[in-house]
Amino acid sequence: MKMSFLNRVGLLFARRWISGITVSEAAADAIRINRSGEMVMLNYLGEGTRSSHAASRSVKIYLRLLKTMKRSRIKGCISVKPTQLGLCLGYQEFVRNYSAIVSAADKMGIFVWTDMEEHRYTDYTIKAYLDALGMHSNVGICLQARQRGTYGNLKRIVKKGGKIRLVKGAYKDGGGVNYTTEAEVSANYLRCLDYLTLHCKRFIIATHDGKIISYALNKAKRYKRELTFAMLKGIRPKMAAQIAKNGKEIYIYLPFGEEWFQYSMRRLKEFSNIVLVARSIFQG
Ligand SMILES: Cc1cc2nc3c(=O)[nH]c(=O)nc-3n(C[C@H](O)[C@H](O)[C@H](O)COP(=O)(O)OP(=O)(O)OC[C@H]3O[C@@H](n4cnc5c(N)ncnc54)[C@H](O)[C@@H]3O)c2cc1C
Repeated sequence: MKMSFLNRVGLLFARRWISGITVSEAAADAIRINRSGEMVMLNYLGEGTRSSHAASRSVKIYLRLLKTMKRSRIKGCISVKPTQLGLCLGYQEFVRNYSAIVSAADKMGIFVWTDMEEHRYTDYTIKAYLDALGMHSNVGICLQARQRGTYGNLKRIVKKGGKIRLVKGAYKDGGGVNYTTEAEVSANYLRCLDYLTLHCKRFIIATHDGKIISYALNKAKRYKRELTFAMLKGIRPKMAAQIAKNGKEIYIYLPFGEEWFQYSMRRLKEFSNIVLVARSIFQG
């Protein structure tokens, strides 16, 4: 693929947040991160797919990625987005594509996380996840503390033996279905975290929020729990390295693919305080 000069400069800057465009670039980044003691969670960028051809292409790329991970002995898992796999086209189409990836990954012993998107997809995502969980043990689901229904969903999924990755939530669709203030989102995060600490052996705390991380560490110590963390590539890498150095399991979410520009813009937009962005870029 030919790129303009501006695109190339932009990509160079975005490499802080993304692992590159191709499967081999993502694999090379994953190997580099594994060497520093962190595991990886690889994600092929894309969402809201509007054609069956594009959804099938994403499946093919995931299958290629799985083979590469197996061959290169990459320590980590993958994370897939339902709307990239065709959920906007129809539930059955999504399930077909999702199942193809989960089955292939299961045969290779690779874990598959299911990303959570806008609220309107939540019930379908949970349904597909629970059906997959009935057939495969290598699946987990992301839940967003921002969504009001998450605490109830979390209890339901944990009771069925599901594995959860807890995030604050990147999609701010309102309509009364989401908490709107950051204080409410954090409070719901801690409430969910309390439940997971008491009722779940393994779950993932996916945040860069130092207060939540300290809270989780204290709580885990009290209840003698092992903790696993996850952070996005390029956000607070020093904190991630410190967590790994302290002997805790940590995954770095590595997005890659042609849609790097949209993803990088979202990371910048999410973080409105430009001073902190600069600090994050230059100090880690
Ligand atoms: C592994 C992983 C998987 C995720 N999967 C999903 C998913 O499936 N669905 C979903 O909706 N969301 C997902 N997210 C995104 C998540 O919902 C949040 O939008 C994102 O993590 C920011 O929230 P935070 O918990 O880090 O807290 P924040 O309050 O946003 O940030 C806490 C601190 O982290 C630092 N920080 C955060 N963002 C930036 C940034 N862009 N640049 C520089 N510094 C920053 C700052 O120091 C900030 O004070 C995922 C996040 C992670 C880490």
